[in-house]
Amino acid sequence: MEGYELIPRVKAEDLQKRLDELADEINRDYEGKSLMAIGILKGAFMFLADLVRRLSIPVTVDFVRLASYGDSSQTSGTIKITKDIELPIEGQNILLVEDIVDTGLTLDWYLHRLQSYRPASVKVCALIDKFERRQVEVPIDYAGIRMEKGFLVGFGLDFSEKHRNLPGIYEVRFHE
Ligand code: 5GP
Repeated sequence: MEGYELIPRVKAEDLQKRLDELADEINRDYEGKSLMAIGILKGAFMFLADLVRRLSIPVTVDFVRLASYGDSSQTSGTIKITKDIELPIEGQNILLVEDIVDTGLTLDWYLHRLQSYRPASVKVCALIDKFERRQVEVPIDYAGIRMEKGFLVGFGLDFSEKHRNLPGIYEVRFHE
């Protein structure tokens, strides 16, 4: 079986600083309003937790779990909901919290679905905007970190369910 190593990409302290900035922006943009943050499981759990604890506006939290068929490292575009949100969406200001946007197919699919529930507004906050393989234009209103490519783990992101607990972001480098 081939091995791999983890190359540091974003230090935990730099991530936390960036989260301060994102939360400041969100607090400003939603001043006088309330927000419903929807985290996309599992990858967004840590990002969402660290983000909402910095928000001073009224916020509710829910989660959705999406599964895409096919190769686990490549989104096929065929997506289904394996755990739906539980709070009503109609009339709410939704902030969709995503771990990483790669091809954009997952986000595009879910954004269309969300619109059918008639929210007051929908914005997207993604920890990582990995733009090289983008296939559909998706709006990312708040992007934590922009990266060109690489398979990333840590801060909620996994490789075969491992490394989600790391406080920083690492790139997986496979040995030949
Ligand atoms: P997209 O539909 O934008 O191609 O893919 C989105 C999903 O693919 C993310 O929510 C994430 O679950 C997974 N993904 C994409 N790139 C990476 C990556 O570099 N590392 C990890 N762990 N997951 C990724």
